Amino acid sequence: MAIRKSSKLVWIVAVVASLVLAACSSFPSQMIKAPDKFGEFVQAENSFLIDIYDLSPTDLGEGESLRVVATTNIVADVVANIGGDAIELIGLIPLGADPHTYEPTPGDYQTMINVHVIFLNGVGLEEFMYQTLKQVAVDVPIVSLSEGIELSLFGGGRDEGEDHEHDEGETHYQVQGGVDPHVWFDAFNVIVWAENAAHVLGALDPANADLYETNAHEYVEKLKELDAWIQVQVARVAPEDRMLVTDHLAFSYFGRRYGFEMVGAVIPAYSMAAQPSAQEIAKLVDTIRELGAKAIFVGTTANPRLAERVAEDTGVELVPLYIGSLSEPDGPAGTYLALMQYDVNEIVQALLK
Ligand SMILES: [Zn+2]
Repeated sequence: MAIRKSSKLVWIVAVVASLVLAACSSFPSQMIKAPDKFGEFVQAENSFLIDIYDLSPTDLGEGESLRVVATTNIVADVVANIGGDAIELIGLIPLGADPHTYEPTPGDYQTMINVHVIFLNGVGLEEFMYQTLKQVAVDVPIVSLSEGIELSLFGGGRDEGEDHEHDEGETHYQVQGGVDPHVWFDAFNVIVWAENAAHVLGALDPANADLYETNAHEYVEKLKELDAWIQVQVARVAPEDRMLVTDHLAFSYFGRRYGFEMVGAVIPAYSMAAQPSAQEIAKLVDTIRELGAKAIFVGTTANPRLAERVAEDTGVELVPLYIGSLSEPDGPAGTYLALMQYDVNEIVQALLK
């Protein structure tokens, strides 16, 4: 198979800085700019991604199935729904591991170079896998399931030397520039995943293309049902109570689609790899008190120590969610659909208190 190395990403970019910044009238508009981090991730992923429309059929032997790797277990679950029994699927990142900071093992490298295609979440999520992916891309096509999704992008800079006066009750926090990779928190983005997966599998394995299309169609119906269910659930929470304080910034897509505002995060960054400063923690404590936020939502892959401290200081509840990883199959979030239902129930219950 011919692999084109520097594929062009077809990202549609939405600058949704307004999610955070709209509430702060003193915020100078010139600070909302295309963040440097965005360019970095596009450049890095372009060095190993192949365009999903640039794939040709794989030479499969008699009775041989397409062998597929998916990076995160959430991506693996969605690809499993599309590939069904027609593919051999290997999920790479173990349950409970953090996808931002997961580093591939030598065994993972061996696994990856022996498959026909690798599916990523993309959008900068698997940043600690880039080195290995670059090597693997010489032999195996690597695709981003998120190709074509409208991305959430935030303007960068930590105040850039400027100190703002805060009015009482004003929502104000800033994030380092970057793009939110947690696209799966909008069920409609996962429709794009399903369609991309069906397209990629069908292009590599045309004999089963109809099956992949049928599976995708059925799964998309479930995603639409999930989306409608979420809309009904979140409608129970008064608009002024739809505030999310989280361990890191993972909910811009959720906020955009379901009407929530991310008012603060223990780690004000899109990746768990970042470290908050003492000043940022103090600011978060202030924000929680000023706005009367009711809970801090913490992913199961996060170290809860800092969040626990903030919860103690403010007296708010710490609510665990599944963010970057599914639970064990028989746990409460064993599939993507179950993860969303679990998280939405937890969020709604915490905010209704
Ligand atoms: Zn995350």
